[in-house]
Amino acid sequence: MQKVKLVILGAGESGIGAALLGKKQGYDVFVSDGGAIKDIYKQELAVNHIPFEEGHHSWDLILAADEIVKSPGIPEKSELMKKIREKQVPVISEIEFAYRFSKDQKIIAITGSNGKSTTTALTYHIFETAGLNVAMVGNIGLSYARQVATAPADYYVIEVSSFQLDDIKTFKPNVAILLNITPDHLDRYDYKMENYIKSKFRITLNQTREDYFIYCMDDPEIMGYLNKQTIYSTPIPFTIMEPLKKEGGFIANDQVNIRLNDDPVIVSIYDLALKGKHNLYNSMAAGIAGRTMDIRKEKIRESLTSFKSLEHRMEYVTTVRGVDFINDSKATNVNSLWFALESMEQPVILIMGGVDKGNDYSAIKDLVKEKVKAIICLGVDNQPIHDALTEATPAMVDTANMKDAVQAAFQAATKGDVILLSPACASFDLFKNYEDRGKQFKDAVREL
Ligand code: ADP
Repeated sequence: MQKVKLVILGAGESGIGAALLGKKQGYDVFVSDGGAIKDIYKQELAVNHIPFEEGHHSWDLILAADEIVKSPGIPEKSELMKKIREKQVPVISEIEFAYRFSKDQKIIAITGSNGKSTTTALTYHIFETAGLNVAMVGNIGLSYARQVATAPADYYVIEVSSFQLDDIKTFKPNVAILLNITPDHLDRYDYKMENYIKSKFRITLNQTREDYFIYCMDDPEIMGYLNKQTIYSTPIPFTIMEPLKKEGGFIANDQVNIRLNDDPVIVSIYDLALKGKHNLYNSMAAGIAGRTMDIRKEKIRESLTSFKSLEHRMEYVTTVRGVDFINDSKATNVNSLWFALESMEQPVILIMGGVDKGNDYSAIKDLVKEKVKAIICLGVDNQPIHDALTEATPAMVDTANMKDAVQAAFQAATKGDVILLSPACASFDLFKNYEDRGKQFKDAVREL
């Protein structure tokens, strides 16, 4: 019998994972990337006898495919994708492909505009603490397909982006978590918020009654859409606004309550390992996911209090002469910065700026007024920050590299202050990526 011709478009971690899985499952795999492929990935393809091309796409080969796995980075608007759609070659995302070969395992899929990685890591920590055979995959760590190909597990905790959800067909998580929806990546959705929201809700597309949909009740976008849409899985909300009578997660008397069945998990908010209001949401979502899989209360409590925060996300770095340093380099939009500021209890020197995706800074003006002693702008074009926030803060300094930014911040600080790197912007004007930015921050702090 002829092998099924599978073309993988894009050779990042998810594309390579799909290629390895396809090869293992007996497909005739070809990988095509319009840019350069990392050496380490090229070696992997060669070792596994998987043909590939880089720097261009051979349209004839691609259009002759029986099925295409499209990497999340490839926009629908590209000429190639238009042609593929015109020819009606079936296109799926890498999570759809990986799911085809892990249907019998339990899947916990996590999406949202912010907090995905944190909640994925925390959920994984809960399952691991409970002694289950679990893998953490998706944008965080290895791709789902690679994990299925090389080290299958009983439970997959998957961080899922909206781009991955756009090309699912049968993907049906046992547990779907939707953390929040705020404007992001709108360029890929014809600048229509409605399209982006729909895309996020696709996480519930194939769910049925025995599955769970865990969602944030305090998010107006989620609630607005829920009213219009039928969800077939069992809905479990979480909120920090009011105690719930039904099943869900809520706060009462400074305690997190996770109520599923009649036996709630109760943890003091002061004992949670992850601090800040946004992490109340993340902790509840992860805890509920644990309970849906019958993980014991004690294990959930233990995990929520013992978790170590991820690098570059509200990561405490050190204290120098009474001044604390926090690295929140992963905060690449205004919403993340809002939550970071909201959780600050000391006066803040804020390092922010970078590549602005059309940010509206007015949302943080009040918090800046209340908490920020000085803003250290760190970007090539700091004008939008000046325009929006000069009035709200006593001091504003421009810098163009991390070392200067950290030094300027330290000069502005006195004992008891906190220096917070939470840029609200992408990093590629001055840095390779947010990890590089966070690492340079930590290096500069250690040199003080
Ligand atoms: P993602 O993977 O969705 O980008 P992360 O877990 O990496 O999210 O967190 C990114 C930033 O978003 C963090 O620096 C934090 O300040 C902020 N954040 C985390 N959780 C939430 C939440 N539930 N709501 C809003 N902002 C959040």
